[in-house]
Amino acid sequence: MKWSKKAAHEKYKALRIEFPWYAEVSQRVTRNAVDDLYNAFTHFFRRVKKGEKPGFPKFKKRGLHDSFALREKPKFDVDNRTLRIEKLKTRIKMREALRFTGTLCQVTISKRAGKYFAALLVDTQDYDPKHQAQESVGVDFGIKDLAICSNGQTFAANQKLKHSLKRLARKQRALSRKVKGSKRRAKAKQAVAKLHYRIHNQRLAVLHEVSDYLTAHFKVITIEDLNVRGMTKNHKLARAVNDAGFGMLRQFIECKAELRDSQVVIADRFFPSSKTCSACGYKKDAVVLGVDSWNCPECKAHHDRDLNASVNLDRYGRDTLQLDPNPYTRVA
Ligand SMILES: [Zn+2]
Repeated sequence: MKWSKKAAHEKYKALRIEFPWYAEVSQRVTRNAVDDLYNAFTHFFRRVKKGEKPGFPKFKKRGLHDSFALREKPKFDVDNRTLRIEKLKTRIKMREALRFTGTLCQVTISKRAGKYFAALLVDTQDYDPKHQAQESVGVDFGIKDLAICSNGQTFAANQKLKHSLKRLARKQRALSRKVKGSKRRAKAKQAVAKLHYRIHNQRLAVLHEVSDYLTAHFKVITIEDLNVRGMTKNHKLARAVNDAGFGMLRQFIECKAELRDSQVVIADRFFPSSKTCSACGYKKDAVVLGVDSWNCPECKAHHDRDLNASVNLDRYGRDTLQLDPNPYTRVA
């Protein structure tokens, strides 16, 4: 028998009668799975024809990457942090509100490590560059605050993350004391894994928040070139660097900037952003770590260390792109 998409749909109709439990989920669940399979085969045959590496569609074993998708408007909707999917009597509470505004296209329900997840695909205009109101910004990544922008906006280091990291250390110590192969050890191990996952999510949430803010509001974003390896020498600083995930933050900013058509300028790593007075241009000899503010001996301007650095970075970016130097952010 030669299979076609139509034949598969017909077969499914027969199966629905034979096995009533099929009716417990939306019909579209299976129909979409058949559509996906059809697409997988179409692409496979196209690659074979072209002489490319074909990559036969992978068989999906039950229990591994279990998921299904709903793509049709009446089959699901989101309202006020709750999700409805067809055939389910209760609405599902969402862990967080939708990150984007726009039209919902698809929901994918998946099961991972015994937990269910819903991924929502949104057709959004949020990345439309015309929403960017301001021309440029400089961003200093700090220790006290995660990010300080030259317009005065700051993003505090995630307190919940800090709390979780402390808990993780405690749980890891507890795990190390448990007897190998014991039930208690297995339980402790699971607790550590769960917390790791939570920390991962908390970290991502902050990074998304900062990168979204920057790319949604500014056409030019200047950041420092974080020589993470160099910073790692200072133990305390290294901890903060790792906690904040600066490397990932830079990736997020660059990726979203591309989507939103903004430009990212990376300042040379020897650019003295913290040592220069943003009011008069005077350069200090050295920065003392742990000092939050300073007074310029030349023009007597009082500077918050990180804010001053971010203003210098903004200027660096504007100079690099040869933008009109006028609308510099003023520091009081
Ligand atoms: Zn000065």
